[in-house]
Amino acid sequence: MAVETAQRDTIVAIATPPGTGAIGIVRMSGERSWEIIQKCVRKSIYDERRILYGNFYDTDGNVVDEILFVGFKAPKSYTGEDMVEVYCHGGVLVTQKILAELIRHGARLAKNGEFTRRAFLNGKIDLIKAESILQIIEAKSEESLRLAIDNLKGKLSEEINRVRNSLINILSKIEVSIDYGDDIEVPRDEIMQDIADVEHFLSDKLAHADKGIHISTGVTLAIIGKPNVGKSTLLNRLLLEDRAIVTDIPGTTRDIIKGEIKIQGIHFVISDTAGIRHTDDFVEKIGIERAIKEASQADVVIFLLDATTGFTKDDQYILNIIKDSNFIPVWNKIDSGNKVIKVSKNNEDILLSASSGVGLRELEAKIVEKAQPLVAEGQLSHITSKRQIEHLKLVNENVVKAMRSLRENYPLDIISIDIRNALSELDKLLGRNFTDDLLENIFANFCVGK
Ligand code: GDP
Repeated sequence: MAVETAQRDTIVAIATPPGTGAIGIVRMSGERSWEIIQKCVRKSIYDERRILYGNFYDTDGNVVDEILFVGFKAPKSYTGEDMVEVYCHGGVLVTQKILAELIRHGARLAKNGEFTRRAFLNGKIDLIKAESILQIIEAKSEESLRLAIDNLKGKLSEEINRVRNSLINILSKIEVSIDYGDDIEVPRDEIMQDIADVEHFLSDKLAHADKGIHISTGVTLAIIGKPNVGKSTLLNRLLLEDRAIVTDIPGTTRDIIKGEIKIQGIHFVISDTAGIRHTDDFVEKIGIERAIKEASQADVVIFLLDATTGFTKDDQYILNIIKDSNFIPVWNKIDSGNKVIKVSKNNEDILLSASSGVGLRELEAKIVEKAQPLVAEGQLSHITSKRQIEHLKLVNENVVKAMRSLRENYPLDIISIDIRNALSELDKLLGRNFTDDLLENIFANFCVGK
C-alpha cells in the first residue's frame, strides 16, 4: 500500500467557486487546523461542530472580515482529521486574504481533491464513494445526480462488498479442501454453485454497465463530415440553442472541439472533428485519424453532408468508415437557394440549415431518438466510470477462468489462484489496494477545495 508522506500537513483551500457571492468558504484540514484558526480569530474554539462568530485578524492586527467558523474533531469530519471551515463574505479579495493568512500561520495550499483523498486514506470512504462525490459535483442531469447520490450512500460499494465476501467464502472452502482434504473436503459441486452465483452477478452488472456510464458522463455525439460542410457552425448552433454547460473539456486535442449540452433532459458530450477527406498533408492526416477515432467511439454520429455539392467521393469515404455506427445523415446548407442540388433524401435524412437553425428541432429529435435506448429506464447498474468497468471485467475474467478449471477438474490450487486474482481486482475497485498513480488519476479531476 502506498505511503502518503504529505498527509500530516495541514491543508487549506477556498471551497467556493472563484468570483463574488454572498458567502465564501475556506476549509482547512490537519492536526494544526484548530491551533491556526484560534490564532487568526484570537479566541478559543470551545465546542466542536458548533458555529462560532468572530473577527478574522491578519498578522498586523487588522480585521480582515467578520466570519463564522466551525471546528470538527477527528475522526468526525469529512477528511477524518481535525478540520475548520470559515464562512466569510464572498469576495475574491477577502477569501484570498483569509487563505493567505491561514497559510502564513502554517497551513499549506491543498492540491486538487486532497480533502477527499484524505477522506479516502483515512478510511472514511472507499474509492467508489470518492468517485461519486466528483460525480455529484459534476452531475448535469437528474439521473446522474441520483446515481451519484445512491453510490455515495453505498449502493455499489455494498454490492461489491457482498461479492467480495462470497469470493472470500469460496476461497476458504477451497483452502480447507486443499489443507484438510483427507478429513474435510467441500464438494466441488458446492464450490461450483457459489462461483456460478458470483458469475451471474458479474455478467448481469457488466451487461448493464454502459447505461450507468451514459447517464453519469453523458452520451457522446460526434459531428463528422468533409471540410467546409458546416460542422463548426452546427456545433455552435447546438451549443447556443441548448445553452452549453461547458465548452471546454480538458484533455481534448486542439483539433477536436468539445462541448456539453442537454437535449430533452439527456446529457450529451458533443465533439466537432477535423474535416475528413483524402489528403497527403501529414498534419491534416493526423487530425483526420483523430476524427475517425472520435467518430468510431461516439455513441451517436452526425454525418454532415453539403446540399450544395451533393454526395461526393469524400462522403463515400466517410460513409465507409461510419457505416456500422449509430449515425444520422444530415444535409446542411439547404438555405442556399438554387445552389442546392437535388439531394437524395431517405426517411432517415435530415434537411438542415445550420446557419439559420431551420431543421434543428428535427435533428435534435432524431439525436434523442438514437440516444434514448442508451439511457432509457429499465435495469440500471450503478457502475458509473470506465475504471469501475475495467476492474469488474478483470474480476469476471478470473471468475470465469475458475469456473472453467473446476469443470475441467483442475486441481484446487489452480482455482484458488484465479479466485485470489479476482479478489485482488475487486480490492482495486474499492480502493483497498491502490497505487499512487491510480489516486493521482482519480483526484486530479477534483477541484482544489474538494
Ligand atoms: P466546417 O469546416 O465543416 O467546420 O464548416 P464551417 O462551419 O466552418 O462552415 C464552412 C462554411 O459554410 C462557412 O462559410 C459557413 O458560413 C458556411 N455554412 C455553414 N452552415 C451553413 C448553412 O447552413 N447554410 C449556408 N448557406 N452556409 C453555411
